[in-house]
Amino acid sequence: MTAVVLVACTRMMVPIETVARIVGVCDPTVEDGMDADFLPAVAGKLCYRSFGVGDHNILLTRSRTDLVEATANLLRQGHHSVLEHVSATFLLTGVSRVMTHELVRHRHMSPSQLSGRFVWPAEPEEPVLPSAMPDELRETAVRTVAALRHWHRVCSAWLRRRMDDGMPFAERKRVASLLRRLLPQATPTDILVTGNLRAWREAIAKRCTQEAEEEIRDVMAKVARALKAVFPACMQDMRIGDDGIVEFDR
Ligand SMILES: Cc1cc2nc3c(=O)[nH]c(=O)nc-3n(C[C@H](O)[C@H](O)[C@H](O)COP(=O)(O)OP(=O)(O)OC[C@H]3O[C@@H](n4cnc5c(N)ncnc54)[C@H](O)[C@@H]3O)c2cc1C
Repeated sequence: MTAVVLVACTRMMVPIETVARIVGVCDPTVEDGMDADFLPAVAGKLCYRSFGVGDHNILLTRSRTDLVEATANLLRQGHHSVLEHVSATFLLTGVSRVMTHELVRHRHMSPSQLSGRFVWPAEPEEPVLPSAMPDELRETAVRTVAALRHWHRVCSAWLRRRMDDGMPFAERKRVASLLRRLLPQATPTDILVTGNLRAWREAIAKRCTQEAEEEIRDVMAKVARALKAVFPACMQDMRIGDDGIVEFDR
């Protein structure tokens, strides 16, 4: 069973108003508290010292007090580097190695994935098949999966016997690494992935399309919905269809 869970994300340790005071602005008009969704807007305001209008920056004649609008302005202008201040960590379980191989191609993500050398479950796990097998191939697919399940159980029994005989840990790892090479790509795995909002947006934009593979599209659509719920300002230009297709306003 696939699960996509937002397990951690950036949080503010001081109110936004305090950030303004620390950078020397005594009369900030921004008082939006502790919501990390506004951290990119704060970063933008730090660049222009636009916490209100006054002697702290005489070049300014106006400053946005609405942080949702300030964030929208940054997004419109393509100032996406400020999104890198906010990160989110997702736990993905019961996803296939097909999917994780695609996900880790996104180079700004930080993954920690279940080890195939250190982990060999006694029982074979159900392969992750996001769509139905064509009728003509179903019978042979079922036979192949049954044969692989049998092979997995034979390996488990063999490993247990050898371990009872004192098989050293290094040897267990070597054999498990050999056995995993015969596992299907659809074998489920778990992965914890951290990325900043810019990196997540890049990956969502590429993977939530008609052209993308079905499983990663479904997973990334769930990621997109979770991020939109927690960071509505940073993700305000993102529209998610019922079919998992995501579009960003240009
Ligand atoms: C539909 C689809 C089909 C695909 N098919 C294949 C395939 O057949 N074979 C295959 O190998 N891959 C395939 N991929 C993976 C694809 O080539 C990318 O590796 C993957 O989408 C990661 O995207 P990215 O490299 O643009 O950016 P990411 O790694 O997510 O980085 C985000 C952005 O950062 C910038 N960036 C990152 N690293 C660098 C760098 N070193 N230099 C300069 N700029 C950088 C770029 O602007 C990049 O777009 C496919 C992807 C999709 C969505």
